Amino acid sequence: MKAAVIEAPGKVTVTTVPDPAPGPREVVVDVAACGLCGTDLHILQGEFAPTLPVVPGHEFAGEVVGLGSEVTELAIGDRVAVDPSLYCNECRSCRAGRNNLCDRWQAIGVSVAGGAAEYAVAPVANCVRLPDHVDVQDAALIEPLSCAVRGYDVLNSRLGSHVLIYGSGTMGLMMLELAKRTGAASVEVVDVNPKRLATAEKLGCSQAALSAEELGRPGGWDVVVDATGNAAAIQDGLERVAKAGTFLQFGVSDYATTATISPYRIYNQEITITGSMAVLHSYERAAELFATGVLDPQVFISHRLPLTEYPQALDRFAAGQGRKIVVLP
Ligand SMILES: [Zn+2]
Ligand SMILES: [Zn+2]
Repeated sequence: MKAAVIEAPGKVTVTTVPDPAPGPREVVVDVAACGLCGTDLHILQGEFAPTLPVVPGHEFAGEVVGLGSEVTELAIGDRVAVDPSLYCNECRSCRAGRNNLCDRWQAIGVSVAGGAAEYAVAPVANCVRLPDHVDVQDAALIEPLSCAVRGYDVLNSRLGSHVLIYGSGTMGLMMLELAKRTGAASVEVVDVNPKRLATAEKLGCSQAALSAEELGRPGGWDVVVDATGNAAAIQDGLERVAKAGTFLQFGVSDYATTATISPYRIYNQEITITGSMAVLHSYERAAELFATGVLDPQVFISHRLPLTEYPQALDRFAAGQGRKIVVLP
């Protein structure tokens, strides 16, 4: 089959690899669409993936075309979206229900072959069957949405909060959609790219601006979400959390990124700084939210490109063009 392969840091190609075969409790998915995200760029930079080469792609959906010998829950022809998370279920984190912090955390498309290929293998337990009205290509958005749902779980958000989001790429916009639906009093979005802000406005944010300074909330925001991973944005955001507010590190930084905190202010103003990592018991809920139309796929997916253009698609994503880019194997 044809697949994108990250062979070494900085080197990605589209090539022919052997067709995958399912284990007893796995299925083969004929991938309809696979989304690209910052994680793929990190893998390309030599981070995250424990071993290269790897077929990237952890955001995908498709049709079941092969069944392992012990699979009875799914049938050939079922349309599924795939939770990429693979947990050991044995370590201390897993046993405490915090599987996304698994000591041996792995993911389809990160540490084992993913969906940027004609076919991908997934455990039956990771597949969610799609209702008929959901377009299987669009369902590639469920994985990033499940990360946003996890982010909201961490926030324990309260009705009537003022929310500030840094970054109006796909993840920032998903946080915007969830903030609107979880009763935020206002949701404001900051991005250094004015083109991206237009989409945040279209989706109904309260205000969009090139810097938080322009938004005029001197007391700060109850919830500040970084969806950029960028050091300058994170530093700015940390300083704009209101008393008793929460800062959520949702964007993925390079390993070397650092920011400065004021321990006195964290003490004196009871500020919470937290993070949310990938997916935790949030994939099924994201699939259900997605089926109710929480996101408009026509807005969120800006490019649908053939798999053969995977390297160019990554370049386009790295250049900050568009929103979610999916490849269609
Ligand atoms: Zn992703
Ligand atoms: Zn574990």
